[in-house]
Amino acid sequence: MNHHSCYADLHLHTNHSDGYYSPRDLVDKVRSLGLKAAAITDHDEISGLPDAIQYGEKCGLELLAGVELSVHFHGKDIHILGYGFDPVDKALVEYLAGLRNNRIERARKTVDKLTDLGLYISFDEVIEVAGSGSVGRPHVANVLLKYGLVSSFKEAFDKYLGDGKPANVRKRSVKIEEALQIIETAGGVCSIAHPGIQIDEAELMALIKAGCSALEVVHPKHNEVDMQYYRKVAGEHGLLETGGSDFHGGPKGEEAIGKYTVPCEVVEHIKSSSQYHQSRIQAS
Ligand code: AMP
Ligand code: ZN
Ligand code: FE
Ligand code: FE
Repeated sequence: MNHHSCYADLHLHTNHSDGYYSPRDLVDKVRSLGLKAAAITDHDEISGLPDAIQYGEKCGLELLAGVELSVHFHGKDIHILGYGFDPVDKALVEYLAGLRNNRIERARKTVDKLTDLGLYISFDEVIEVAGSGSVGRPHVANVLLKYGLVSSFKEAFDKYLGDGKPANVRKRSVKIEEALQIIETAGGVCSIAHPGIQIDEAELMALIKAGCSALEVVHPKHNEVDMQYYRKVAGEHGLLETGGSDFHGGPKGEEAIGKYTVPCEVVEHIKSSSQYHQSRIQAS
């Protein structure tokens, strides 16, 4: 038997980004699987957190504030998880609002470029498809597909939306220093998300040097060998080990939830190393 009885899933998406379930429905789901703690980590979005945290308190699931930030690093888009920050921190909320507005303007420019290429879709429909989540290229691709302007989702990227393609518009790129600063100022800690997907060893070392204090060891895209390796790296560099299912739900898959967890101790460690929680404890 495993000596841990308390488990947490620290990587979950809701309909506040590209996930399927509302924060409350996700809290119910996580709880019904027997987990005791969780973090909702929507892409560049924390609007679901205050209500989810309150709802979690009512039904007995501890919710750690979380977010998954897209960061431009060594020429690629990587993901950094922020944990344990103040979910209503003014600077963080405004920062993310800026990113959201940038994405809306980008979608408008993308639609304009498509128009120039003779592909007529409506900007309003792209926004509608995005719903409450932040708008991105997948939404544009789905509208193109809906009107038969491409024959597949992939074709939309290969022909028009992919990097370097004619209707591509770059989004405002966030630097690692910027992401670390905004999360730390809000009292949180940063974890390097799913390093096994797109980060090589040199980049991993550079991210640790930049100031990331945690590493996502447990993730569906990591096999046993990966996890062993990242555990070793975390041990050598004194990093917290985080993990979760990266669950999105709906068409993006229902399987992962509940299967990728970390002991609740990790949550305690994050809380004790995050200034936000420390100052709250000291104040009370
Ligand atoms: P965005 O955040 O608007 O830049 O969109 C990024 C998302 O687009 C990724 O999470 C993928 O789901 C999707 N994506 C990016 N490049 C491709 C590609 N070449 N083929 C299919 N999907 C892609
Ligand atoms: Zn996602
Ligand atoms: Fe990610
Ligand atoms: Fe994710």
